[in-house]
Amino acid sequence: MILMKDITRDGNPVLRKVAQPLTFPLSDHYRQLADEMMEYLINSQDPKIAKKHQLRAGVGLAAPQVGESVQMASLLVPNEKNEIIFKETFVNPEILSESVRQACLSEGEGCLSVDKIIDGYVPRPDKLKIHYYTVDGEEKTIRLKDYPAIVASHEIEHLRGHLFYDRINKQDPFKLDEDTVVIY
Ligand SMILES: [Zn+2]
Repeated sequence: MILMKDITRDGNPVLRKVAQPLTFPLSDHYRQLADEMMEYLINSQDPKIAKKHQLRAGVGLAAPQVGESVQMASLLVPNEKNEIIFKETFVNPEILSESVRQACLSEGEGCLSVDKIIDGYVPRPDKLKIHYYTVDGEEKTIRLKDYPAIVASHEIEHLRGHLFYDRINKQDPFKLDEDTVVIY
C-alpha cells in the first residue's frame, strides 16, 4: 500500500522529468501500480483510514509521484457531497483540445508532492478533450469541464514535469483574466 513516505516530494528530479509512454498489454508491475495509486486515493478520502495511516487526502496521483517516470495517473474526483463524479486511471493521456476560457479553484491548489502551502490562483483550461488508454488498453476520448478538468490538467502536467505552482502568476498570484471561472 502506498503511504506518504512513498510519495516523491518537490525537489526530486523525477517530478521534473517528462514521463515515458507505456506499451500494451501493461505488465503486472504497472497494473499493480495503477491499483495501488487508486487505492491510495480511495483510502485518503476515507477519514478513518486516512487518519490511521496518516494519508493526506488526494483527488489525483500521477506515477512520477511514486517515483515511476511513466505516463499513468489516477483520478478520484468527488463533488461537494463527497459523491465520486469522476474515477479513472489514465494511461498515455493526451489533451486533444482545450477551451480558451480558464478556470481556477477559489482556494488555489495543493499537491501531495508539495508539502508547503503555496497561495495563488492556478488558472487552467475550463474544458478539456482528452484521449487516453485505460489500464486494459481500451482507447477513450472524453470531455471534462470545471473541477474534473482541473484535476485532469494537474495530473497530466505531472507527466510532463510540471507542478501546479508553475502556473501561478509570479508578479500577482491572485490576478485573473476577467472571464476566468472561479470554482468554489
Ligand atoms: Zn500534484
